[in-house]
Amino acid sequence: MSYDNENIFAKIIRGEFDCIKVYEDENTIAFMDIMPQADGHTLVIAKESAETLPDLSDAGAAACIKTVKKIVEAVKTAMGVSAATVMQLNGAGAGQSVPHIHFHVIPGSILGARPHAREMEDQDKLKGFAEKIITALG
Ligand code: AMP
Repeated sequence: MSYDNENIFAKIIRGEFDCIKVYEDENTIAFMDIMPQADGHTLVIAKESAETLPDLSDAGAAACIKTVKKIVEAVKTAMGVSAATVMQLNGAGAGQSVPHIHFHVIPGSILGARPHAREMEDQDKLKGFAEKIITALG
């Protein structure tokens, strides 16, 4: 299937839609999930136009995992948890709701976490978590 240039993460990459950003480099952006499954739930996206993991270049995949590593560490420190879950859904059949490659970093366990992409979180609360994550990133 061809890549949808109008998906919400493509708009965030182009600066056409706001996000609560915690990290950015040449190839990736990390920002707060607006319908978090746990406090501190952060998304890591590739800047490359790819829908699923197999669509992503090897270099793009390496860049994403490098950023995911940083975010896992920072989220654990910021949220005061000893563990975090990394989740990546490939295709609508797997529950992927935004057709642009991204990794979820969810503090703690996914088991017993809030439902996926269900409830909007308060923006100020998200900004508070983002500040803590940015501080932890150093
Ligand atoms: P997935 O179902 O794996 O594609 O996950 C998409 C995630 O993006 C969900 O957890 C949504 O809550 C989240 N999401 C959707 N729109 C936005 C947005 N504008 N900013 C931040 N997160 C979003």
